[in-house]
Amino acid sequence: CGIVGYTGKQEAAPIMLEGLKRLEYRGYDSAGIVVSADGELRLTKAKGFVDDLSKKIDGGRLTPGTTGIGHTRWATHGKPSDENAHPHVSCNGKIALVHNGIIENYQKLREMLISKGIEFKSETDTEVAVNLIQYFYKGDIVKAVSEAALRMEGSYALGIICEDFPDLLLATRKESPLILGIGQDENFLASDVAAVLKYTRDIYYLADDEIAVISPKDIKIYSCDLEVVKKEPSRVDWDI
Ligand code: GLU
Repeated sequence: CGIVGYTGKQEAAPIMLEGLKRLEYRGYDSAGIVVSADGELRLTKAKGFVDDLSKKIDGGRLTPGTTGIGHTRWATHGKPSDENAHPHVSCNGKIALVHNGIIENYQKLREMLISKGIEFKSETDTEVAVNLIQYFYKGDIVKAVSEAALRMEGSYALGIICEDFPDLLLATRKESPLILGIGQDENFLASDVAAVLKYTRDIYYLADDEIAVISPKDIKIYSCDLEVVKKEPSRVDWDI
């Protein structure tokens, strides 16, 4: 339901917790974050409120790291639970992802992935997306995201992180909103401008089927066939 991502010099977890709080008005049943640090992905999820998640990680002190993605979930496939909460991690543990929306053809994709030996831990449509990216990942994570996106039907906004690129966030969307916040040596992604307005008012609105690659110093946007897209940032002049 809500997505927040951060990459920069500051601790990512407190920024994501605050962003998720700003998206609480949309309603949700569980929350989670993943932070990439020391070459590994640290995942925490909790059924309940952002405050419950925050307690579990002592406001972020238990999950140090300067790159991460967070999510509040409104369950559509699979009951509200710790296991079904996002982020979801690929079967080999290398890729983590948060998702808003519904992947309509998840059953077919899930059967295909199971036939290739991929194991699932949750009941969600979302876990199909992260394992589909893993399935196509042969070293080029942007290509893997685009191959996966080409095969997913339905609606999605995705925030993605890969162990092999510790300070990168990736994002793509179809019929579900996703924005990128432009900072100084730090950048953001979110499902709603409200989550990042405290830090920046310079925003890229990602269009359907575009893929964003976000590092602390740079945001690159590609079309689904991986052509570079030139986009003008928008300046937000309203307050929340
Ligand atoms: N369909 C996904 C799920 O049930 C995402 C729901 C959402 O948008 O929060 O886990």
